[in-house]
Amino acid sequence: MEVDSAVIGAGIIGLACAERLSRAGRSIVVLERHDRPIQETSSRSSQVVHAGLYYPTGTWKARLCVSGNRALYGWCEAHGVPHARLGKLVVATTPDEEPELHRLLAQGQANGVPNLSLADTAFVRAKEPDVRATAALWSPDTGVLDVHALAESLVAEASSRGATFAWRHRLTALERSGDAWALRLDGPDGQPVTLRARHVVNAAGLDSDTIAALAGIDLDTAGYRLHYAKGRYFRLKAKGRVRHLVYPVPAAHLAGLGVHVTVGLDGDVRLGPDVTYLPDRRIDYAVPESLGPDFARAAARFLPFVTPELVEPDQAGIRPKLSGSGEPFRDFVIAEESARGLPGLVNLVGLESPGLTCALEIAREVEALLG
Ligand SMILES: Cc1cc2nc3c(=O)[nH]c(=O)nc-3n(C[C@H](O)[C@H](O)[C@H](O)COP(=O)(O)OP(=O)(O)OC[C@H]3O[C@@H](n4cnc5c(N)ncnc54)[C@H](O)[C@@H]3O)c2cc1C
Repeated sequence: MEVDSAVIGAGIIGLACAERLSRAGRSIVVLERHDRPIQETSSRSSQVVHAGLYYPTGTWKARLCVSGNRALYGWCEAHGVPHARLGKLVVATTPDEEPELHRLLAQGQANGVPNLSLADTAFVRAKEPDVRATAALWSPDTGVLDVHALAESLVAEASSRGATFAWRHRLTALERSGDAWALRLDGPDGQPVTLRARHVVNAAGLDSDTIAALAGIDLDTAGYRLHYAKGRYFRLKAKGRVRHLVYPVPAAHLAGLGVHVTVGLDGDVRLGPDVTYLPDRRIDYAVPESLGPDFARAAARFLPFVTPELVEPDQAGIRPKLSGSGEPFRDFVIAEESARGLPGLVNLVGLESPGLTCALEIAREVEALLG
């Protein structure tokens, strides 16, 4: 079988790429080792539509988050995907954290984030009576969505234009062959399957570096080697008591945004995620109950009513990070690899947060790279 484009991975990024590429009438196949879409990182996030405050100006993360926020709300409205523009407070809990709010405001404005403002305690109290803060940054365009409904809508659109989805197909080999790519897969019953594609989009999430290596890329020379950083969540047994997203000022190097409060479309309140590097890249989604007091303590800095009795373990996700523990910020890799002698291969590596927010815009970039 030969197709125009093979997309590896049916996470939210692979689905967005399939939807986008199918618009031009190309033949598309999405190859996914699971039997359904979004079975890995994409279904284990906070489902927050970020505004784009945090990231250095000019980076993919900053640019695609700002435009991705608009694009994603537009898609949700057009396709009936449940979402809510709840708004987010970044809170300083002591006066010495307040300069960080000014820095974030300037960073967000430099990135082109609209509608940001500094807020005083009266504003915070009116929004969230239980939050303790000396000042805050208000981001009205941060919100949440239903990622499963988003995935369904992308699959439906791509399928309606002829894209096919090969579930339970694991890519095992990828090599350049003539003017195309030869892909080898393990099919549903372990039988080998081969496929040729003019273009390959590597949207394999936690294994995107492994796939790049299969294509012959030296991960250390290219700077593509991933580190796994687990993020755990606890549920707050206080549904409805918090109605906006509430974040502390962020940690150094943007390893994570600090244990924060997210509110689901169903009103559930969650604390997290934290950041714990997994040294051996083991997939581990456990959330030990014993961590409850740590999460409660982190949240109680700005939500004093939170006690260990009010929290219970929730889910965990794993970030595919290009920066190791303590290392500086790294941007997404969104690269067509002609310069490495691998034309038609687009690698998407290190798509941690805000990857969900950026998904539609990453897909637009992929389409542009493939011409
Ligand atoms: C804890 C946490 C919280 C987050 N919160 C947010 C948030 O609030 N907002 C936001 O914008 N972003 C957030 N993110 C980031 C966001 O979730 C990711 O950027 C996004 O989901 C990445 O999607 P993906 O498609 O690249 O990866 P994935 O969802 O991991 O999909 C990759 C797919 O590739 C498949 N695959 C891999 N290897 C193979 C192979 N060899 N053969 C076949 N298939 C293969 C996998 O099975 C998988 O289905 C968060 C991430 C984490 C971990």
